[in-house]
Amino acid sequence: MSEKKKIALIAGDGIGPEVTGEAVAALEALGDRFVFVRLTAGGAAIDATGCPLPPDTLAAAREAGAVLLGAVGGPRWDGLPGHSRPERALLELRSGLGVFANLRPACLMPQLVGSCPLREAVLKAGSPDGAARFDLLIVRELTGGLYFGEQGRRGDAAFDTESYSRREIERVLRAGYDAALRRRRKLCVVDKANVLETSRLWREVAGTVARAYPAVETSFMYVDNCAMQLIRAPAQFDVIVTSNLFGDILSDEASALTGSIGMLPSASLGACKDGRPVGLYEPIHGSAPDLAGTNRANPLGAILSAALMLRYSFGMETEAARLEAAVASALDAGLRTPDIASGVPAEKVVGTKEMGAAVRSFLPPPSPTASAGPPVA
Ligand code: NAD
Repeated sequence: MSEKKKIALIAGDGIGPEVTGEAVAALEALGDRFVFVRLTAGGAAIDATGCPLPPDTLAAAREAGAVLLGAVGGPRWDGLPGHSRPERALLELRSGLGVFANLRPACLMPQLVGSCPLREAVLKAGSPDGAARFDLLIVRELTGGLYFGEQGRRGDAAFDTESYSRREIERVLRAGYDAALRRRRKLCVVDKANVLETSRLWREVAGTVARAYPAVETSFMYVDNCAMQLIRAPAQFDVIVTSNLFGDILSDEASALTGSIGMLPSASLGACKDGRPVGLYEPIHGSAPDLAGTNRANPLGAILSAALMLRYSFGMETEAARLEAAVASALDAGLRTPDIASGVPAEKVVGTKEMGAAVRSFLPPPSPTASAGPPVA
């Protein structure tokens, strides 16, 4: 009997507890195989302790096999200075865990073509098989760049600085190339090398790393062009690797093309610990204060993040695929949260809880051999 997997759960603020609640229920429906250690961060932690990321939270997150996060932040804490805002918890958690590669898959599921704002002809442009769909992966550098550079005020001026080392660029590029090898073997480095020195270093390092991956076709694109190409022909992309700031923005754009930001999962990975990468898993959306407590948030991004956790942190490929198939089945059955409803009669608009329950209803019953040993926390 294998030991139960220990998951640090940071539900967070706004819709965070609602969407992670459904992700946890989905994981529990896979069998009695997980132990959840509930931790606080973000606005909830500021209210409880005065600190966005209490040291105990980081220590316990480091201890766990993986971290599942909802979202943090909200208007209640918007008046606080930068270093004590809820979002500070995200930056400290990411750097404290050392999760430098943020994998953000953006795939238009066939069931949601009607919720995509692009015309069919646009979706078909550049598509390898001519079908109206796209399946791309944005690999965002997560622990460097503008979000971690020196910042401050000088008189009436403010400044933020971007700095990248060769090492930081190389390791995230390698994560991108490794992912490309498992996909369609195309990798596009997105930067602003016509203006930024950091981007020119990215290109230099990419030129070297690319030589170690001859099977992958490498290209370069300026970020402004990429923002445009994503809405002109998203199917042309396979893997995009880019900096912290550019990845943050481009992935929100890509998410809107999948139907809703509520659909997108993410995996933030670092160096290996016990043979598996350290992993932080979260839907890419924020705390959506406008939806909090209304049972209208889409929980699928959080549930799909749990699937990525099973795959990358626990090596549970079968269970990950089951969770993803159950999400697809719920969509096949016509269930839609309001954000992905396109208004056709075959759809049934449901709330957060009902969507979570539908996903669970499509999971096969847990196999008796799957049960694990005693809880570890
Ligand atoms: P947001 O992602 O919370 O919301 C943007 C829009 O998307 C809103 O209209 C919202 O209703 C919608 N949306 C988001 N998630 C959804 C879901 N699961 N289902 C349906 N619709 C969804 O971004 P924002 O409004 O810019 O930020 C709100 C707060 O979240 C801010 O405090 C911000 O700093 C924080 N934030 C946190 C994270 C994080 O924790 N990782 C990421 C982004 C923003």
